[in-house]
Amino acid sequence: QADLAMYKAKESGRNALSFFDPEMETVVLQRTALEADFRAALEKNQFVLHYQPQIVGSTHLIGVEALVRWAHPVRQLIAPTEFIPLAEETGLIKTLGLWVLVSACQQIKRWSTDPQFCKLTIAVNVSAQQLRARNFVEQVKHALLATQADPTRLKLELTESLLVDNVQDTIEKMHSLKAMGVSFSLDDFGTGYSSLSYLKRLPLDQLKIDKSFVCDVLSDPNDAAIARTIIALADSLALNVIAEGVETEMQRDFLAHAGCHAYQGYYFSRPLPLAEFEEYARLQVAR
Ligand code: C2E
Ligand code: MG
Ligand code: MG
Ligand code: MG
Repeated sequence: QADLAMYKAKESGRNALSFFDPEMETVVLQRTALEADFRAALEKNQFVLHYQPQIVGSTHLIGVEALVRWAHPVRQLIAPTEFIPLAEETGLIKTLGLWVLVSACQQIKRWSTDPQFCKLTIAVNVSAQQLRARNFVEQVKHALLATQADPTRLKLELTESLLVDNVQDTIEKMHSLKAMGVSFSLDDFGTGYSSLSYLKRLPLDQLKIDKSFVCDVLSDPNDAAIARTIIALADSLALNVIAEGVETEMQRDFLAHAGCHAYQGYYFSRPLPLAEFEEYARLQVAR
């Protein structure tokens, strides 16, 4: 059908590519509406953080990953996979990213007086545009100072794709933040293109095994080999390692035997709204 429209357009105007495709128009309209909604949502503060537990061994809670959701007034809670790409294309990710950062720092501060929660780290996802901004280090420092959050409770998750260009700039920014006590994890590890020489130079604390390897770790020998290799690599670089997307006890056990000690995934808990997470944490201690 698109071919036909293209053909007609060519016929009518030779090189003028002004063909009309009703399906395409719907997509464009939906996107435009979503973008307008998204801008408004930032102003109206319609975002929320959910918290997914990170576990050492089988029950020891060590921290959470903060994952943003859009509490859209008419639609159901919208997952980040639906709006992060849009936020990145429009540049609005910088505004959203700052909101996430400040909100996570506020939570660190709130938990700081509760003996049950004060030791937890909160991991925050950082997008490429945020990291590349000239004032990124200042933004993080400001978020920490303004909220009086303990920097050692804040972990920033970077992805490999983010590290490919401007490596030197990234390293300098990481060092400035590490000097304050902030730590770094390399998210979705194994799916990107980071060379081992970068890995050695980056002041990282943790590698996070991507869930695509964990998913079939029991059935696909290649995934099992990759998981083992990442664990060994982390070990030899003196980094800690966490597996994401752990959904079953057998996956956890496989990873444990391979030398992985920290996990995140539905097997332990889905990402939860604050009150539910706190409830989860209390039950965790009680058992
Ligand atoms: P991510 O940082 O790799 O986060 C892990 C994703 O895996 C989350 O999806 C989480 O809900 C999901 N997950 C956790 N355990 C399991 C499991 O056992 N099985 C499966 N199949 N999935 C699991 P979510 O919350 O939809 O977030 C998707 C992505 O959106 C994140 O991937 C991250 O890249 C991005 N994202 C989320 N919040 C933020 C944010 O505040 N800022 C930025 N820049 N990106 C964010
Ligand atoms: Mg992440
Ligand atoms: Mg990930
Ligand atoms: Mg991911």
